Amino acid sequence: MKTNKRRAFLQKTGIIAASTAFAPNALWAATNAQKDKLGVALVGLGYYSTDLLAPALQLTKNCELKAIVTGSPEKIPVWQEKYNIADKNVYSYDTFDDIAKNDEIDVIYIVLPPSMHAEYVIKAANLGKHVWCEKPMAPSVAECEAMIKACNDNKVKLAIGYRCQHDPNIQAYMKAAKDKTFGKVDMVTSAAGYFDGRTDHWKQKKALGGGAMGDMGVYAIQGARLATGEEPISVLAQTFTNRPEIYHEVEETAMFQLEFPSGARAACHTSFGISMNYLKINYEKGWLQMEPHSSYNGNKGVMSNGTEINFPIENQQARQMDDDAAAIMNKTELMVPGEEGLRDIRVVEAVYKSAAANNLIKI
Ligand code: NAD
Repeated sequence: MKTNKRRAFLQKTGIIAASTAFAPNALWAATNAQKDKLGVALVGLGYYSTDLLAPALQLTKNCELKAIVTGSPEKIPVWQEKYNIADKNVYSYDTFDDIAKNDEIDVIYIVLPPSMHAEYVIKAANLGKHVWCEKPMAPSVAECEAMIKACNDNKVKLAIGYRCQHDPNIQAYMKAAKDKTFGKVDMVTSAAGYFDGRTDHWKQKKALGGGAMGDMGVYAIQGARLATGEEPISVLAQTFTNRPEIYHEVEETAMFQLEFPSGARAACHTSFGISMNYLKINYEKGWLQMEPHSSYNGNKGVMSNGTEINFPIENQQARQMDDDAAAIMNKTELMVPGEEGLRDIRVVEAVYKSAAANNLIKI
């Protein structure tokens, strides 16, 4: 973006108005400066940031955990001490926009309940920072499209936290689809679920983007889409719950059938009540089975010709963030851009429509 055009954009979005002391050129320079590591701000310090992303960031080569955004003041000293985070790099949701002025932060990673993803991805993009966003990308296709647009308009990258696509074990069956190792795909069976014992979490609340489909169903969808290398053209779905006292706003379990342009079909299952984690691909001339298929580690499989899929990977999230940071620094394509998150949400929306109509829905 030319300087004048960018200045006009910054004036329009109020970034200049909000801070007279802040020169837009500094922002532009900050986001484009050549660095050997990108500074990452984690937004939302819940389970996934605390237990997985922050520890993984310590193992990355291309990233540094530089900043936190939290609405829970009691977490601040713990995180500052553990990860050596400077006072000036601690933000609340009220001071989020000040990140624009901080050239130590290159990437804002949104790790909030799904209903908040669109709002914070768009805010982050408008600050001129690259954005990583956790799955599910957002509850609706319209929000996903707005997120992609905001990142494109601001010329920043948007990556979705589909860690599995960075795992060489998942890449092995993606390659089988691409190379047609066993010919055409006839049938995929794909399942992702776990037993969630919580009763009052965002995963059980519609307004916060809960429901098994967005949370675990996207792994079942990914299995089917990556196994065929195609996008589904129709969906037939049912949703149900065994624990109506907990799952009265959102589905506990969903079963859905996908049809692909080549004629391949997928039977997919997802649940917050049933533990399942596998993928089976039946091709014209063989089969491939993964179990586990979408775990943090230990994903492995076997093919009908006896070939085992069992590549070592030190830390999936570290690999994901290193790949995404390298793509940003080298100005190459992201492995899992916003468009990939959107493709799954199209299917999620169709699953809900199909279940509500009790009928097949064309995508
Ligand atoms: P969590 O409930 O443990 O954490 C959510 C965080 O958001 C908390 O720090 C909470 O304080 C904060 N928050 C801010 N406003 C909130 C509000 N209005 N309501 C509820 N919380 C609010 O959730 P999590 O398991 O860390 O999930 C966060 C995101 O990460 C989700 O999108 C989830 O799907 C994703 N996730 C991804 C993976 C993966 O393997 N890629 C694994 C777990 C979670």
